[in-house]
Amino acid sequence: MSQGLVFVICAPSGTGKTTLAGRLLAEFPQLNFSVSCTTRPPRPGEVDGEDYFFLSKQEFEAKRADNEFLEWAEVHGNYYGTLRKTVEEALSKGKDLLFDIDVQGAAQVRLNLPGHCVFAFIAPPSILALRHRLEARGSECPEIICRRIANAKAEVANAHWFDFLVVNDELELAYQELKSAYLAARLYPTRQAGLINKLLAE
Ligand code: 5GP
Repeated sequence: MSQGLVFVICAPSGTGKTTLAGRLLAEFPQLNFSVSCTTRPPRPGEVDGEDYFFLSKQEFEAKRADNEFLEWAEVHGNYYGTLRKTVEEALSKGKDLLFDIDVQGAAQVRLNLPGHCVFAFIAPPSILALRHRLEARGSECPEIICRRIANAKAEVANAHWFDFLVVNDELELAYQELKSAYLAARLYPTRQAGLINKLLAE
């Protein structure tokens, strides 16, 4: 059996990450969404246990104290974290996991789960284009947009250590590039130890 892969996707907010990740999950049934814990309240339509495990701050802090998180971070004033259990269960069954997490969390995953992960960063074509996208959403006030832009730049400053960098200018092209990154990552010989051993045993 091939070893499960953790495909980590990071992107500044407004870059189209959710759309791209959703397409990848829809196309590849062996790729499972890693459900994170968060202390932010559910948005309309979000389901506990599917989109997130929605926890109180106290519940989150108790899990953190028990070292249950592979990684965690404070993002936009709320806590977010990935449970070790989620990852261990998926990888032991040979499944692939998609992490949609922020850059701080990705840096922890890189340290805590070496050898299992591939990191893809999705960037906007320009900061101006990102600003236009955030403004077009119409859901955030100018101060929040300014904060998101500053956060975006801080995240872009980390993009150099990722394995893949996809620019989401034209959605279809960006999707094909992200898909190529995932497919390429699955071909690493380190994830196919089972096959190598089988060939050698013949
Ligand atoms: P949202 O609240 O819009 O769903 O997510 C806000 C940000 O938190 C996004 O950048 C998302 O990728 C990030 N995020 C979601 N889950 C996790 C997690 O488990 N860990 C970390 N570090 N970030 C997360």
